[in-house]
Amino acid sequence: DAKSRGRSRYSIFEPSMGQSLADRAALESDMRIDLCSDAFRPYYQPIVNLASGCIVGFEMLARWERADGKIIGPGQFIPIVEECGLIGELMLKLLEQVCVDAANWPSELTIAINVSPVQFRDPWLSEKVLAVLTRRGFPSRRISLEITENALISDPVAAQRIIESLKNQGMLLALDDFGTGYSSLQHLGMLPFDKLKIDQSFVRNVDTDENAYRMVMAMIRLADSLHLSVVAEGVESRSVLETLQKLGCRDAQGYFLGKPMSMADTTILLRSSQSKTDWLKARLR
Ligand code: C2E
Ligand code: MG
Ligand code: MG
Ligand code: MG
Repeated sequence: DAKSRGRSRYSIFEPSMGQSLADRAALESDMRIDLCSDAFRPYYQPIVNLASGCIVGFEMLARWERADGKIIGPGQFIPIVEECGLIGELMLKLLEQVCVDAANWPSELTIAINVSPVQFRDPWLSEKVLAVLTRRGFPSRRISLEITENALISDPVAAQRIIESLKNQGMLLALDDFGTGYSSLQHLGMLPFDKLKIDQSFVRNVDTDENAYRMVMAMIRLADSLHLSVVAEGVESRSVLETLQKLGCRDAQGYFLGKPMSMADTTILLRSSQSKTDWLKARLR
C-alpha cells in the first residue's frame, strides 16, 4: 500500500491512485507553506486499559487542516513530507504542540508519538527530541515513541544507537504495527522496547478468524514472556474487544473505544466524568 511504499528506503515516489503529478506538485507546495503555520495539528486517540477500563493515554495522529477546510490524513501527506526531507521538522513541531496540549492533562497519561523511519538517518534525533521536552518542561516518561521495524532497515547500527539514546532519556518505546515487518523477533530481543502494538490486520478478525485468534494469542504470550506490555490496535467492535479481554490483552485502541479527536474534543472528553473512571464501561453499556 501507499503507506509501506512511502516508508521504504528503496522506494521512489509514485503518485497514489488518481493523483496526477500536477496535483502532487500543488500538494507539496501547499505543504511547504503550511509547515510554517499551525495547519498540521495533533489529533488524539484514546488508549484504554482493558482490566481497569480507564484511559491510560493517547496516540497523537497528525492531521493537516487545509485552508480550504479539508482535513487530510497522514497516509496522504507523511510520504510527501518524508520525501521532502521535512519529517524531522514536522515531528518536532507536533511534539512541541503535544507538550502544550497535554501540559494540563492528568500526569499519568502517556502520549504516543510516531517516529518515521526516515528520522533515524538523523544522528541528533534523540538530542532534538529531548531539547523540545526540556524547553517545554514536559517529562520524557510521559512520551511513548512508536517505531516500526522499517526504521532498522537502512542502518540498523545507527538506528539502534539512537533508539537506546531515546530510551536513556526516559522515553517509552513501542514497536508499532507488530507482525507486519520482518525479522521482528530479532529486533524485539535486541532493542529496549517497553510495548508491542499488535497491528490492526490481526486484531480486526480476532473474534471470527481462528488463525488471527491464534496469532494474537501467540503475540500476547510473546510480549508477556519478554515483559513487554501489549496494545491491540484497530478495535472496531464489542466482540473484538471481548475476545481481547479473554486473551488477557492489556491495552487497546480503536474506533470502538474512541476515534482520533481534535485537541478541543480531547479536552472535553478529559473533563467528562466517564473519562475519569471507567471509560470502557460506558462504551459497553
Ligand atoms: P499507526 O501509527 O499504526 O496509527 C494507527 C492508525 O490506525 C491511525 O490512522 C488511526 O486513525 C487508525 N485507527 C485507529 N483505530 C482504528 C480502527 O478501529 N479501525 C481502523 N480501520 N483504523 C483505526 P491514521 O491517523 O490515518 O495514521 C496512519 C499512519 O500514519 C499511522 O499508523 C502512522 O504510522 C502514521 N502517522 C500518523 N501520524 C504521524 C506522525 O505524526 N508522524 C509520523 N511519522 N507518522 C504518523
Ligand atoms: Mg502508531
Ligand atoms: Mg500501528
Ligand atoms: Mg499502522
